[in-house]
Amino acid sequence: MARPLNILFVSSEVEPFAKTGGLADVSNALPQSIKGSEHEIRVIMPKYGCINERKSKLHDMIRLKEIEVPMGPRPRTASVKSSFIANNSIKVQVYFIDNPHLFGRSGLYVHPDTKKDYPDNDERFIFFCRGVLEVLKKLGWQPDIIHCNDWPTGLIPAYLKTVYKGDPFYKDTRSVFTIHNMAYQGVFPKSTFPKTQLPPELMGIEGVEAYGHVNFLKAGLVFSDAITTVSERYAQEIRTSEEFGAGLQGIVNTRKSDLTGILNGVDYSVWDPSVDSLIPLKYDAKSIDLKVEDKKALLSKMGLPFHERIPVIGIISRLADQKGFDLIGEELDALMKMDLQLVVLGTGEKKYHDLFEKAQRKFPEKVAAALTFSEELAHLIEAGSDMFLMPSRYEPCGLNQIYSLRYGTIPIVRATGGLDDTIDDAGSPGGTGFKFKNYSSADMVKAIQRAVSAYGDQPGWRKLVKNGMAKDFSWEASAKKYIQLYRTLTRK
Ligand code: ADP
Repeated sequence: MARPLNILFVSSEVEPFAKTGGLADVSNALPQSIKGSEHEIRVIMPKYGCINERKSKLHDMIRLKEIEVPMGPRPRTASVKSSFIANNSIKVQVYFIDNPHLFGRSGLYVHPDTKKDYPDNDERFIFFCRGVLEVLKKLGWQPDIIHCNDWPTGLIPAYLKTVYKGDPFYKDTRSVFTIHNMAYQGVFPKSTFPKTQLPPELMGIEGVEAYGHVNFLKAGLVFSDAITTVSERYAQEIRTSEEFGAGLQGIVNTRKSDLTGILNGVDYSVWDPSVDSLIPLKYDAKSIDLKVEDKKALLSKMGLPFHERIPVIGIISRLADQKGFDLIGEELDALMKMDLQLVVLGTGEKKYHDLFEKAQRKFPEKVAAALTFSEELAHLIEAGSDMFLMPSRYEPCGLNQIYSLRYGTIPIVRATGGLDDTIDDAGSPGGTGFKFKNYSSADMVKAIQRAVSAYGDQPGWRKLVKNGMAKDFSWEASAKKYIQLYRTLTRK
């Protein structure tokens, strides 16, 4: 039998320690699923100031203190803390790279008040990438695979192919780079380059440069041994379209034989209404009548009146252009003429905060918005809503539409990326949701109209709900695909 692999999973966010979006969910669930198949996998992330060491049970690793991390113009030191993730019986070790000067702040990438990127994000994530490689050597744990995720980890494959090329410790190490979102690239001015201490020839179009800047995502794309992204549809989109490839579609295309789409999964020990400890009343497909109690609880929490026959549409999202909320802004009045209520949980760009604040002022019986981050409310919205809206401009995978299926909350989605891959339109047999193709507010309104009118036919609606709840997007199948990929790279 092939021997188990050593895999290091590198991520800038991991639930429950630090989260801004879906990457944190994936970084929690996928390693546990891989470990369940008997491989040794460990996770490494930055030790942000927002991580409460006592609550998260972090402890110092005595051997891993004051590790020098080479960086221009001056090295910095890292120390390492450790904890674990364990949603069930499977326990995965998590290392935290600490440097209080660079990471001892409450935001992950942006200042929580100004919402602006930290000006030294280049140094922070150069330190992280180089630090990971230095820490492993001190630890003496040799990975077969380093699985990197998104731009904050993009320099690792570049270091492995250059600075650490002749290092016997990394002789058999291969890298996988997963794109969770092509639009966030870690773009910095040329003056960043010397800080990386990469060989000078890498500052060119064959290297980490794109459009005259240093581009961390590009480094991952060029130097990793394999690239994956989080749905098959998105894998196609990012290499064939300028809009989705965000300027790097040419690079992605040159590596198309090394690119695979592997759909994200769901951890059903966290996102399933029959076991969800964050909702007032648990239910499953057989006791779907109980869902209305969660709807009542949600509306009461949000200060909206409850009407049995009026559907509640939920939104849980980063409020960024990607997510398509300008379409709601364009058609708010038309939407509000329909018999529906809208519950929004989100935080992000000010213009969308303004949009939803204005909407709830103008339609206090119909709209309620919580412009904050709340894991608890996210679960209540999944359980208490009848429908879930994701009108995304683009969507690499999207998790909430898949969570919604299990909660019997019918997704209304734009047919792009993972949204298109995971939802079947109600017009087809076995349908699970409502889709619209063009990025147009009129088409979104039509899809919502279709959903609202389908809600009026309760037996038909029940069928949709049952179809969705029966879907299985657990991690197992996708974890197998990752393991297969690791094996092809290591030939073990
Ligand atoms: P993305 O990664 O682009 O943000 P996904 O749909 O893949 O989008 O994942 C979003 C994840 O972040 C989900 O787990 C969702 O519940 C969570 N989330 C987003 N915004 C909030 C918020 N304001 N409060 C709580 N959870 C949120």
